[in-house]
Amino acid sequence: MLKEVVEEDCAGCHSRITDRFYLLAVDRQWHLGCLQCSECKLSLDTEVTCYSRHGNIYCKHDYYRYVSL
Ligand SMILES: [Zn+2]
Ligand SMILES: [Zn+2]
Repeated sequence: MLKEVVEEDCAGCHSRITDRFYLLAVDRQWHLGCLQCSECKLSLDTEVTCYSRHGNIYCKHDYYRYVSL
């Protein structure tokens, strides 16, 4: 059975990534503008690390706030 290649779909907006540059985070691919903290909407395209929990992306600050609750 042929497997459809879906690797180029952005994990944020679910549309195909045709940009030359994209981000690879939490084993998924993102448009540069789509990788942002789901809490404070901070753009994470300049962050070295980002954090994911339950499918949501968090910046470091919000992630640690979240896990410390
Ligand atoms: Zn996107
Ligand atoms: Zn945040």
